[in-house]
Amino acid sequence: MDTAFDCAGMLSFIDDSPTPFHAVENVARALEGAGFVRSEADQPLAQPRAGRLRGFVARGGAIVAWDGAPEALAEHGARILGAHTDSPNLRIKARPNTGAAGFRQLGVEVYGGVLLNSWLDRDLALAGRVMVRSSSGSRARLLHERTPMLRIPQLAIHLDREVNSRGLVLDPQHHLAPVWGLGRVDERLLQRFLAARLECAESDVLSWDLMLHDVNPSTFSGLERELVCAPRLDNLCSCWCALRAITAPERAGAAPERAGAAGPLAVMCLFDHEEVGSSSDRGAQSPLLEYVLERLVGDAGAGRERFHRAMARSLCASIDMAHATHPNYREKHEPEHWISLNAGPVIKINTNQRYATDAESEAAFQLACERAGVGVQKYFHRSNLACGSTIGPLTAARLGVRTVDVGCAQLSMHSIREMCGALDPVLMARALTAFLAL
Ligand code: ZN
Repeated sequence: MDTAFDCAGMLSFIDDSPTPFHAVENVARALEGAGFVRSEADQPLAQPRAGRLRGFVARGGAIVAWDGAPEALAEHGARILGAHTDSPNLRIKARPNTGAAGFRQLGVEVYGGVLLNSWLDRDLALAGRVMVRSSSGSRARLLHERTPMLRIPQLAIHLDREVNSRGLVLDPQHHLAPVWGLGRVDERLLQRFLAARLECAESDVLSWDLMLHDVNPSTFSGLERELVCAPRLDNLCSCWCALRAITAPERAGAAPERAGAAGPLAVMCLFDHEEVGSSSDRGAQSPLLEYVLERLVGDAGAGRERFHRAMARSLCASIDMAHATHPNYREKHEPEHWISLNAGPVIKINTNQRYATDAESEAAFQLACERAGVGVQKYFHRSNLACGSTIGPLTAARLGVRTVDVGCAQLSMHSIREMCGALDPVLMARALTAFLAL
């Protein structure tokens, strides 16, 4: 297998994006580098340049980008790539300074479906968004600590003799507060730390969206470096694939008439809050994507009627990670639908609409893979296990757009450190590039 994998860039993207806010800033920077123009949500959207519409709007942990000719959406609809920027983790409470037995600790809340055991005995640090007082009120500052400062110590086996036979039981209220030093509890410790880091007065630290991450960098693994071990593959891997597709050199190099006028508008939407149900101002249940698309049709001089026609002509690929077949738990998987690493994108199907895929959208994605020269796999959950869901059904229901749920295969989903194939993200990016040209 070729070891010069093209996805080294994904590893640094993940390491540089410990929170949805960082992911969006890094995506925004990459888009600007590729010639996309940033618009503010409360301002008119950027006008076409050289006959081509290439822009994006970012909002906290979510971002929508588009590329094509000005009339492309109204005339031909969109090819939408959807993914999410958030991952299950531990988040800092508003009155976080706590401690016991001579330790200083931080109060945390569990965000999403965390595999709690995987957070024990890791080198953790803080990252996120801090609101700081400014002359006009408050402004957001990003924080990304890269050196270990926190740890959730596991109880010694001598004090929990049955842990290996009965399993580890963790109470989120009592067992997860990370240690971040020794000494008496200091009610302003975090605020002082933030003020020092952000070089502002302690009283100017107003509020935060702070969370924990493992500082251990992502890495290739396996005898032939054919595996990737990294945090947040679910779902920054998919964000990276979508970003690669919408900024693919063949799209950038295309003449405006090839890039859009003759075909649909390419759209990428990375939502926040998928891991907690997508119901927020920037989740997949929000009107974020709908409003941007409506405004893009409006800016092309068309009205609501043309917007609805555009949606009827559109197609969406919702990209989220898929379960590879676990070699040690084969009985957990549907035997006719085993999924392998480095065997190409996975189409996820659930007839109860936990995934939005139907025969029509499945066929469309399959054609894209065929055109990209990429193999494709099909996932069904075991019939006697409850199936997870993702943003696909929400986007389909919100916009009335035909949608296919796809993803790269991985193991250890929702662990602090997950694993996927090193080839799959590149194959997925190729398939998505072809999907945008369908
Ligand atoms: Zn996910």
